[in-house]
Order: sequence, then structure tokens, then C-alpha cells
Amino acid sequence: MMFSMLAWNTDDWQIDLTDALTMNRHWTGNGSVADYIPELRWGDPNQLGIVVTSNYGSIKAGDCGMEFTLQSIVKILTLMLALEDQGEEKVFSHVGSEPTGDPFNSIIKLETTSPRKPLNPMINAGAIAVCSLLSGQGVEGKMSRITSFISTIINREVGYSHAVHTSEKETGDRNRALAYFMKDVGVLIGDVDEVLDLYFRCCSIELTCSELARIGYFLAMKGRLEDGCQLVSKATVRLVTTFMVTCGMYNASGEFAIHVGIPAKSGVSGGILAVVPDTLGIGIYGPSLDDKGNSIGGVKLLQDLSKRWDLSIF
Ligand code: GLU
Repeated sequence: MMFSMLAWNTDDWQIDLTDALTMNRHWTGNGSVADYIPELRWGDPNQLGIVVTSNYGSIKAGDCGMEFTLQSIVKILTLMLALEDQGEEKVFSHVGSEPTGDPFNSIIKLETTSPRKPLNPMINAGAIAVCSLLSGQGVEGKMSRITSFISTIINREVGYSHAVHTSEKETGDRNRALAYFMKDVGVLIGDVDEVLDLYFRCCSIELTCSELARIGYFLAMKGRLEDGCQLVSKATVRLVTTFMVTCGMYNASGEFAIHVGIPAKSGVSGGILAVVPDTLGIGIYGPSLDDKGNSIGGVKLLQDLSKRWDLSIF
């Protein structure tokens, strides 16, 4: 059944969604929960949930009641704010726009690439550099701009998990190494500890699947809120969704583009935010991860839905 808003019948799509979830839930047994941030190890590997939001409302299947931390998914939100704050030219003088083919926390290309800036804003180094560009008074001021930006999109006051933030702060030495290197070469602006604290807090922001889907729908609508207000420019949304295609799914982004074919961003907590331009926002939670760090059940579920509903943009 090809997805068409004209033919939207909630009952039919709901049957399809429930069936796809049932058919793909078993994949959760083939992965494992991230534990390099100790607090994330409490995620239940058997869980898998999805919410799909369109102009006609939302449908859901599986385990979508709980909140989880955004982790890398927040990188698309901080990038949007930095682009709106500083403009494209300034942002891309600190971070590049090429996929890496390396793991998200890799340090290797930071030294070997010329100029010495992170290859893109979706890897940790790039996202940390982007955090250093955000406007606002201190960590608190910047953090409250980010949370109120997200709160405006999802229409709820959001907060962050202090337990995950502390856990990441205590164990985030790789990110510390990336940040100090970038400070040394002039890519990261400001105080390293403050920038990292902001980055760790952003990664610890908690949302539900429905709220992820709502952010996805906001991107599908090119930065327009439901009341018609254009919160961010279409140019910013175009940039961010392009990065989601080229590097949103870690170093499995090429494979994901072939098998699923829609902009998406995942995080090591097991969340995936996906966008079908002009049509749908999708939020997924499934903490069992594959070897690239993507929700294993989530990717299979999206692959199935893309085929059933002909969602690929390519
Ligand atoms: N907070 C995580 C880190 O910096 C984000 C990684 C991710 O979700 O890809 O390691």
C-alpha cells in the first residue's frame, strides 16, 4: 500500500504498523544495550515502540510510553539553533559537511583532515563544536534556550536526566579529548568544561516516542509549527535533513539510505527520529543496538515500513 495523505485511513495504517512491529520485534534479541555510559545500561533490550505522526494525527505500536534520553538525536536540534544564531557561513567555518565512515566518537580524522575541523556536525566532535557556537548566558542560559526550543516544538516543558548527565560527565573522557584538541586548533570556542557540560546535558534531554515523532513532523513541515508559525527557516531545515541522510545513522548511513531512504537520526539510547518530507514524522525507541550503534529493531522496522508504504525519497 503506497503511502498517500489523500488515502489516509487511520485504521488501515494502524493495522499495518502493528503488524510491522510484531514482525520485527524479534530483531531486538540480536543486539545489545549501550553501556559505555553506565546509566544507559538500564534500558530494557526487549522494548520496541513507534509513533507515526501526520496531518491526520498519530498512530502508535509497541512500547512507546516511557521517556528516554535523546543522546545523538539532539545534534539535529543544536545544529538548527546554531544555524539560526550564527548563520551558515560561521557554523561551517567550525565544522565540515562530509560523512566520515568512522565511528561517532572517532578522533582520528580530527588531526589528519585539513583544515582541522570535525568532518560534520553529526559526529561527537562536530556536535561539541556546534555547542560552543550557541548564543546564551553561560551553560544555564544556553541550556534553557535549547530546552525552550524543544518545548515550543512539542508543546511541553522538557527537562534532562541528571543521572545520565552525571554518568556521562564522569565517563566522557573521549569527548573531553576531542574537545581539548579542538580548543587547541581554534575550532572550539570558549571554556572546554562548560561546552562539554552543555553537550552532556543536551544528550540527556528526555522525550517520548510521540514527542520524537512530533519533532520529525515539524521537520517534515519545513520548520513550521502546527499554528502556522515558521519557527526556523526552511534553509535550516533543508541543511539539517540533508545531514540526516548523509550521516544521521552513524557509519551505516549509506546502507540506511539504500534500504530505507528517508532522513533519520539515531542515538545510543535507542531512539530514532525519522522524517518523510512534507508527510510524516516518526519516533522510535528500541534500546537494543546493532554494531554501528543504531537501534537494531528500529532500523528493521523502518526498513519494513519503507517498503510497505513506499516511503523512500530516492
Ligand atoms: N552522549 C553520547 C556521546 O557523546 C552521544 C552518542 C550518540 O548517541 O551517538 O557519546
